[in-house]
Amino acid sequence: MAEFTHEVDADGIATITWDVPGKAMNVMTLQGFQELNDIIDTVLSDDAIKGAVLTSGKKDFAGGMDLNTLGSLRSEAGDNPAQKLFDFTMQGHQVMRKIERAGMDPKTNKGGKPIACAMPGTGAGIGLELPLACHRIFVADNPKAKIGLPEILIGIFPGGGGTTRVVRKLGLMNASQFLMEGKMVSPDRAKSAGLVDEVVPANELIATAKEWVKNAKDADILKPWDQKSFKFPGGTPFHPAGFMTFVGASAMIHGKTQGVYPAAKAMLSAIYEGAQVPFDTALKIEARWFTNVLLNPSSSAMINTLFLNKTALEKGANRPAGVQDMTVKKVGVLGAGLMGAGIAYVSAKAGIEVVLLDQKMEAAEKGKDYSTGLLDKAISRKRSTPEKKEALLSLITPTDSYDDLKGCDLIVEAVFEDMGVKADVTKAAEAQLDDDAIFATNTSTLPITDLAKASRNDERFIGIHFFSPVDKMNLVEIIKGKATGDEAVAKALDFVRQIRKTPIVVNDERFFYANRCIIPYMNEGWRMVAEGVEPALVENAAKQMGMPLGPLQLGDETAVDLAVKIIKATKAAMGDAYPESPSDDVAFFLHDKGRLGKKTKAGFYDYDENGRRQGLWDGLRDQYPPMEEQPDVTEVMHRLAFSQTLEAVRSFEDGVLMDIREGDVAAILGWGFMPWTGGPFSYLDILGAGRAVEIGDQLTKKFGDRFEVPKLLRDLADSGETFYQRFGTQSDMAA
Ligand code: NAD
Repeated sequence: MAEFTHEVDADGIATITWDVPGKAMNVMTLQGFQELNDIIDTVLSDDAIKGAVLTSGKKDFAGGMDLNTLGSLRSEAGDNPAQKLFDFTMQGHQVMRKIERAGMDPKTNKGGKPIACAMPGTGAGIGLELPLACHRIFVADNPKAKIGLPEILIGIFPGGGGTTRVVRKLGLMNASQFLMEGKMVSPDRAKSAGLVDEVVPANELIATAKEWVKNAKDADILKPWDQKSFKFPGGTPFHPAGFMTFVGASAMIHGKTQGVYPAAKAMLSAIYEGAQVPFDTALKIEARWFTNVLLNPSSSAMINTLFLNKTALEKGANRPAGVQDMTVKKVGVLGAGLMGAGIAYVSAKAGIEVVLLDQKMEAAEKGKDYSTGLLDKAISRKRSTPEKKEALLSLITPTDSYDDLKGCDLIVEAVFEDMGVKADVTKAAEAQLDDDAIFATNTSTLPITDLAKASRNDERFIGIHFFSPVDKMNLVEIIKGKATGDEAVAKALDFVRQIRKTPIVVNDERFFYANRCIIPYMNEGWRMVAEGVEPALVENAAKQMGMPLGPLQLGDETAVDLAVKIIKATKAAMGDAYPESPSDDVAFFLHDKGRLGKKTKAGFYDYDENGRRQGLWDGLRDQYPPMEEQPDVTEVMHRLAFSQTLEAVRSFEDGVLMDIREGDVAAILGWGFMPWTGGPFSYLDILGAGRAVEIGDQLTKKFGDRFEVPKLLRDLADSGETFYQRFGTQSDMAA
């Protein structure tokens, strides 16, 4: 079935409709490009056709490239994938360039046929690059529409001419929010930024575009960059003003990415080199850099983890088969503290009725006020409206009475982290619930299987572990206790889908998955400080390898008293088996000094009176004098990277983690594991198991057993396989 079709009206204007069968959103495929090309040939060669309007048969224009197409091109290309990817990219350019030149005489630039784009809604990636090749872009005033080029966020860059066109339309400075940050904006903002031309009422979209086509003159369809007088806005690299921008952009990109993201550098190279040559050559340069990025293992790992696998998990890749729809209608949230208030907010935002219970009515109301605060902030930033605020707040009922939980089909418990308190509220709540309700706990450290003992039915008891702050953190860990049944898992997954977060399903072990891996990372950093490694070296090594926060800053953000609490609780639980570590001394030292982190405006770092982070606290170096000879930065990086990565492998080996895709997605979403790697398992695949074993063995020899290489990794090194070859499950893109 065709992805593009066209029909011609009585005025001789063709309407080209993009409507990929069986998909909610258009995505560009090889077939799509071919069909569009054929229709454009018809439009340009048929004398009865005066011009065309390109639009979509769906409520949105298009979501982007079908990323599976890129993946299969690469894997099916045989010995020369670079050529295949480059040729494919150039074919795309040719189709779009054909639209842009529209049959004009190359010498006089006259005689072309006007082709407008009419976007009913969202246009992302190629869904904006294609409109950019048209002569005028009309967008419907659809409040849900988002326009932009988000490619950079998944490790590639706009390679369908978007880079070359947007930078010529807006100049490097103005283009950078779209190209370098991947910002998606409303139609109005896209118009004021100069990305699109007109925003029109939705019901007049096609008529307005047709009217424009009917009246367009030769000059209206000639792009600035095809005119002799064209000047690159803001100046090319050798123009005095352009020079300043390009030098600044290079420094800015390096500062933001630490040089670990190949796509950002490649895009800037494409812009810099392209700015100095004619437009068609610039497109060719863009295609070369795009090919380069597509072949970079970091880019494919990022696409796999941050797009394909993340989407697959959100769509229920690991939902138990055969369980009926378990959509949540009414949720009871027990405990209206930091977490409970956040869980109530995200649930109401998804349109779910919420009963928010605490010991006292004031506490429950305070929990609801948290939503009011977030909504007021959103309104002041024009991200919400007073009507939406009222609608959302009306869904949250604060209470101190368990009776109000009647009719809830899901409970999420977020009271104090105490086995006894949790057992009491479980019993009190379940007394009010129907038999088929599901009870979930948001505990971060207590075993689900033990907590389930208080429940009347441990099959319908589960862990749903949110991260703080709930409204910002998109990962949710779903934890199966020993007896947890499929319906409870399906319920938790359906709930996470409703609140638009990304779920992973893990088994019940100390710290589950994310905390289990992040704690060794923090410990390793703190331990180095105790050993006399310069604190600044520890922090900078972490950032240079692509961690968003160094282990000391992370300690300040999560709070040193929490670390002390966890150390004490773990010691109590493990007894003699607890591995003593100098990192604990560092935690106790800061704790004794009352330096608990950001919240006390004092921790590993100093803070000003407004709580803004200043430099590292000098007292650290006084307490732990730096060694005369400092370690090599690579060694520091390896310690920081392997402490987390090997723990991820152990979690998989132990069966806590059941799917490496979940391990990779959760690592990036949950604790910011070097996103350029695509997650710990992808990182090991990029490194190669053989090299990883070598590094692990060196670290074990020098620093101890905590770096011991898991058997599974050694096996892969012996067999020459990667994690994804042995354990990968193909996630299909279904945009
Ligand atoms: P919090 O202290 O901010 O809130 C706990 C709330 O529970 C308080 O409002 C308290 O009044 C209420 N409460 C206590 N006993 C109650 C009872 N018997 N009946 C009704 N309400 C009662 O704590 P928090 O940070 O929101 O943590 C809650 C749970 O979430 C804990 O299990 C914690 O381990 C877990 N958790 C916390 C984080 C985090 O970063 N804070 C992250 C993930 C999970």
